[in-house]
Amino acid sequence: MCDYTEVQYKCGDVRYTVRAWCVRYQETHKRCAPNVVAIEYRLDELCGEHIQ
Ligand SMILES: [Zn+2]
Repeated sequence: MCDYTEVQYKCGDVRYTVRAWCVRYQETHKRCAPNVVAIEYRLDELCGEHIQ
C-alpha cells in the first residue's frame, strides 16, 4: 500500500497527498488502497475547490 498524508481543511474537505509510492504502484502504476500514515491540519486554509 502507498503511504498517504490526510490533509484536513477549514472548509471541512479532506485531501490525500502521497508520501511514498509502494513498489507495486511503481511497477504496475495501479493505485492501491491508501495507507494513511499522518494527518495534517490546515484549518486556516480552504481546499483548492473552495478558494475563490
Ligand atoms: Zn473545500
